[in-house]
Amino acid sequence: MTDSSNTDSAAPAGAPAVGRPRTGFATRAIHAGQDPDPATGSVIVPIHATSTYAQDGVGGLRSGFEYSRTGNPTRTALEECLAALENGRFARAFASGMAATDVFLRTVCRPGDHVVIPDDAYGGTFRLVDKVLRPWGIEHTPVALSDVDAVRAACRPNTRVVWCETPTNPKLNIADIAALAGVAHDAGARLVVDNTFASPYLQQPLELGADVVLHSTTKYVGGHSDIVGGALVTSEAELVEQIAFLQNAAGAVPGPFDAWLTLRGLKTLAIRMEQHSDNAERVVEFLTKHPKVTRVYYPGLADHPGHEIAAKQMRRFGGMVSFTVAGGEAAALEVCRRTRLFTLAESLGGVESLIEHPGRMTHASAADSVLEVPGDLVRLSVGIEDADDLVEDLRLALH
Ligand code: PLP
Repeated sequence: MTDSSNTDSAAPAGAPAVGRPRTGFATRAIHAGQDPDPATGSVIVPIHATSTYAQDGVGGLRSGFEYSRTGNPTRTALEECLAALENGRFARAFASGMAATDVFLRTVCRPGDHVVIPDDAYGGTFRLVDKVLRPWGIEHTPVALSDVDAVRAACRPNTRVVWCETPTNPKLNIADIAALAGVAHDAGARLVVDNTFASPYLQQPLELGADVVLHSTTKYVGGHSDIVGGALVTSEAELVEQIAFLQNAAGAVPGPFDAWLTLRGLKTLAIRMEQHSDNAERVVEFLTKHPKVTRVYYPGLADHPGHEIAAKQMRRFGGMVSFTVAGGEAAALEVCRRTRLFTLAESLGGVESLIEHPGRMTHASAADSVLEVPGDLVRLSVGIEDADDLVEDLRLALH
């Protein structure tokens, strides 16, 4: 079991000061779960490319590992590091963010149960809940999570989960994690925060009262657009046992090379997030003054409805920016076609800048639902290139 509570780097959320992390975030990102390999002294965690492990007699496991679907040392290192970065006790890594979402929801929900989801949830989360889990008898209610009273009203006696994204994808809405934790707990439900957009560097939901954090590690955690992965982090020992059971039973685990790449990405998460935030601020400054831009969605803007809460619960405001353009969907598609440095592609959180049209791309599965996004919306994942070059690229594309 991946329990990082014995390291210097993670303590259960809410633990007394004596159990608090002794090291800073960047130090944990580089060292937690990553002691030099005892067998060789290798400073970097090895890629344990093995499916199985020799046993000393039947059942005599040498280091606790038996079969790599169940556990792999490279994956364990990643899980320990992720737990440390979220200030949780346990983490479990998955083959994708959606695999992590699926395992969590099927672990805690049974037919007849109910889930509250954001009314602008990531399209894939909505698709899983609406198209896969609903036919199996799990009900859901989409709610604007910025409206805490509406979330309270949506909770029912059979509500098991309040699912939160903050900032949301793609409209960058902000939810008050501490307030939602109170609402979920009053209803006897768990609060799960999809922390993909913020990353653990900018926001640590367990510290604010959330029960579970979910990541698409595909994004900022990996940071280089070269893997697909997911993770769940919690401090509940019994819950992580149940999650580990389904992780092993269903088998959607990352391979050791993907786990290793993700771990390498994590080492630079702190400096990357600072640069993403710097560059996004420059891009936002440019967009807010551009005559063809009708609205900019960025929680760092003082007039963003969630600005105060974001400032309270986030270290900075991150690298994701959305905006609408005059001229409707055709104009938005044209901007997406014309950028050169911003590559037209789905996904986000890599060092390179990406542009996309949520209505036709990432959120196409939400068409004709309450989660449909406007056609004139463009989403940017602002990378860590030179900010001047990024602004010039957008200037030419909007010209
Ligand atoms: N959550 C958010 C906020 C996302 O943006 C995504 C993917 O874009 C996911 C979850 C799903 O992650 P993955 O693509 O790794 O399955």
